[in-house]
Amino acid sequence: MINSGTPRVEINLLKIAHNIDKLIHLYGTKGLDIMGVTKGVCGSPAIAKLMVDKGILLIADTKLANLQKMNEANIKAEFVLLRTPALSEINLVVQYATISMNTELEVIKKLSEAAANSFSVHEIILMIEMGDLREGIMPADLDEVIQEVLTLPGVKIRGIGANFACFGGVKPSTDKLAELSSLADIIRRTYDIPLSCISGGNSANYNWFMNTEDTGNITNLRIGESIYLGCETLDRSAIPGLYTDAFTFVAEVIESKLKPSLPYGEIGQDAFGNHPQFTDQGPMKRTILGIGSQDVLVSGLEPKLNMEVLGSSSDHTLLNPKEVRLEVGDEVDFNLSYGALLSAMTSPYVAKKYI
Ligand SMILES: *Cc1c(COP(=O)(O)O)cnc(C)c1O
Repeated sequence: MINSGTPRVEINLLKIAHNIDKLIHLYGTKGLDIMGVTKGVCGSPAIAKLMVDKGILLIADTKLANLQKMNEANIKAEFVLLRTPALSEINLVVQYATISMNTELEVIKKLSEAAANSFSVHEIILMIEMGDLREGIMPADLDEVIQEVLTLPGVKIRGIGANFACFGGVKPSTDKLAELSSLADIIRRTYDIPLSCISGGNSANYNWFMNTEDTGNITNLRIGESIYLGCETLDRSAIPGLYTDAFTFVAEVIESKLKPSLPYGEIGQDAFGNHPQFTDQGPMKRTILGIGSQDVLVSGLEPKLNMEVLGSSSDHTLLNPKEVRLEVGDEVDFNLSYGALLSAMTSPYVAKKYI
């Protein structure tokens, strides 16, 4: 895709490497290992390689296309499909992932057939519903699922896991993690299987981890956002000692003029079907950047200098530059939220510049 240099995401690999080191060490102090989650960076092989070089053994992504890209880039890790597979993608799952997260027996049966047909073993992590109400097997149904899975050739239960703070915003509390931990005990005892991976959550588990002496049977957390943005994800506080600015979004000024602050003429819908409201602040400097929702989740951009984002459409973003002097051709730097990072990394219009 052609790109003149803007828009771009600047990716500071040294800062990311630092964050990976710190998090491996931190979680390691209580015996937890990290699955490196690459979906936020569109399966970037450069970043996956950093994770592996730092000692992360499992690389996880929700997209098979990203797993394929990292496979083909020769990243030496075990690949995990972080989302329960669709029935239509079973053969690809067995080809590109050695482990997948699962919640549906019907899917696991197909994985079993596909793995057995290719004389391989596909490992599964059974995701358990603990209240956030996204993916997961209800604990009451777990026995039935495990009994059935144990009869299937070609699949092996690697462990169990739970997810928090993704759909319902449910916190990974001490009680919830203790419950997951005791489920692991029960399964190990009942079925005499090792369950080497008990995956307790994601970047939202930071506060639980810090405030819990005994992390029980939990062996693993699946971490993306903390590595990239240096924060936990319950209230997005920075984690001490981590960089929060490893990624910078850069856009270019394409118009900068003194104009009225209030749209004039008859008012209908805006580009996205909304009825926008404005207040008259008199004439103001209005700066336009050549980016919009085709490039990035504009609401997740935070200007590094004191400026205000007024709004955006598909290819234009309006800025009140306040005291900052901006002229056509100038570049404007932003910090990114997770949504902005995800959208910029997946947009073909945004260049990725590793520094
Ligand atoms: C995205 C995802 C993660 C990683 O979440 P972060 O907040 O980026 O750490 C973990 N588990 C699952 C199932 C996910 O989909």
